[in-house]
Amino acid sequence: MSQRDRIMRDAQRTAGEAREAAKRGREAQRKDRAKRSFSTSDHRHCSVCWAPIPLDEDPAVCSNPECAEKQRKRESSRKRLTVMLYLFPAIAILLVFLQGIGASG
Ligand SMILES: [Zn+2]
Repeated sequence: MSQRDRIMRDAQRTAGEAREAAKRGREAQRKDRAKRSFSTSDHRHCSVCWAPIPLDEDPAVCSNPECAEKQRKRESSRKRLTVMLYLFPAIAILLVFLQGIGASG
């Protein structure tokens, strides 16, 4: 066997070993991940950054003050939208109603 052949064989063996080691490592990692996901208890997510938070957290934001502020702004704009959603039709109805009174009176 020539020097070249021996080197080639060694290189192949080493590559094979590396592949095996990588496979083993991946499998261990996968098992580890599966275990972690199973051990995760029930939780909800921060409605701003989606970080996992305890289930009974209220409001649904993490401890990050930035998230709390964002959530507060979002909540107030949502309330404003709800008010407008009722207020505008009410005004429209009122205008129609007043016009009706004006026409009849
Ligand atoms: Zn957050």
